[in-house]
Amino acid sequence: PVFADHQDELEQRREKYLGKIWHFYDRPLNITRAQGGWMYTADGTAYLDAYNNVPQMGHSHPHIVKAIARQAKALNTNTRYMCDIVADYAERLTKDLPDHLDTCIFVNSGSEANDLAVQIAQSLSGNRGGLVIENAYHGCTELTTRYSPESWQHLPEAQHPEQIECLIEPDTYNGPYAGDPEAASKYAADADRAIAALAERGHKPASFMVDTAMCAHGLITPPGEYFNLVAEKTRAAGGFVIADEVQPGLGRMGTFWGFMATGMKAENVDFITMGKPVANAHPLGVIILSSKIMKEFLGGTHPLLFSTFGGNTVACAAGMAVLDVIERENLLQKSNEIGDYFRAELRRLADQHPLIGDVRGRGMLVGLEFVTDREARSPAVEETEQVIREMLKRRVMIGKGTPGILKLRPSLAWGKEEVDFFIHALDQSLTAIR
Ligand code: PMP
Repeated sequence: PVFADHQDELEQRREKYLGKIWHFYDRPLNITRAQGGWMYTADGTAYLDAYNNVPQMGHSHPHIVKAIARQAKALNTNTRYMCDIVADYAERLTKDLPDHLDTCIFVNSGSEANDLAVQIAQSLSGNRGGLVIENAYHGCTELTTRYSPESWQHLPEAQHPEQIECLIEPDTYNGPYAGDPEAASKYAADADRAIAALAERGHKPASFMVDTAMCAHGLITPPGEYFNLVAEKTRAAGGFVIADEVQPGLGRMGTFWGFMATGMKAENVDFITMGKPVANAHPLGVIILSSKIMKEFLGGTHPLLFSTFGGNTVACAAGMAVLDVIERENLLQKSNEIGDYFRAELRRLADQHPLIGDVRGRGMLVGLEFVTDREARSPAVEETEQVIREMLKRRVMIGKGTPGILKLRPSLAWGKEEVDFFIHALDQSLTAIR
């Protein structure tokens, strides 16, 4: 990799003033600009960005950059004023959703959106319990950390939040019901167990929160009706359903709303929460809910709901420009076309490289599971780390998180050339580590 001239000094200063925070690489690159699907170091070396799910419409997309600049020049302030763009954007976001998802609350991040959705669910249901899938990540606030077993499941059980119960991961490749035609109902039955376990501790579920892209779960593919079944069980127990669209939304999975790509019905969703790509990396979080729920919440425990920056004019201009780009560039169709091409090319590579155990995903959400043995499906943890390092040498950046799995979430700006560059680098990397 190409490191900056002042790499050592920058690493030391970063650690001194920001603490030792988590990086994808032992030595993170000093990126100075980015365009489309590529990122550049100061000397102009181009790296293919295969994990950055935030500038989802492409880095520095000219239409979005222009919209941000134009609005910043005209008006950028708190949200106490009447501004057409804020109402226009909320109207446009909700226009194709069913009647019960007709109102937006704007905040600043995915965590805030999820936090507020849980607060509303708790307030209206009168319940304090929560259901999530094991390993899930939904945010960094106090409340969303509880809904993020990824952040606490390594701790002794006594330190686990007692209001939360985790469902087993509905893994159709390497789970207890993989290959079982009844997998959906068998995995969903774990929600009955979880609801009963909460009841034993004196709780009912306020909500079931789910990222249908299964990002923290290694992009596993849940079986058919799984999400609908768990949603129905949650509602029957008095809880609300929160579809966390921070990762799956805005075309990532080939549909505008990711949960729809999985077959989860909109009627089974009470709250949609959004973040990351919603304004193509400009900070914005959104909660979509019913006006009836909103009215009840504001009339009850929370009459003073207000976020100073949430949905300010510049954030809304960026969000609006994202919607323009999705339409103008036909990105939903492109996400499916390029995603299918990507998976087909990966499956072709699998013929030559036995390390590739499974290729999965939808749209531009592409999961690659490495195994040491295809029969046993045992995860190739160390080899995955090696592949990530080898790919960086070949100028491809990949995020890591789930051992044995490459989670590929490139921008929708990728075309076949970017896929071909990736495939060539992966072919060479897999050969190099043999
Ligand atoms: N939900 C999901 C599914 C996420 O992946 C994340 C961030 N990784 C969040 C919520 C939290 O979003 P933010 O970092 O913007 O607070």
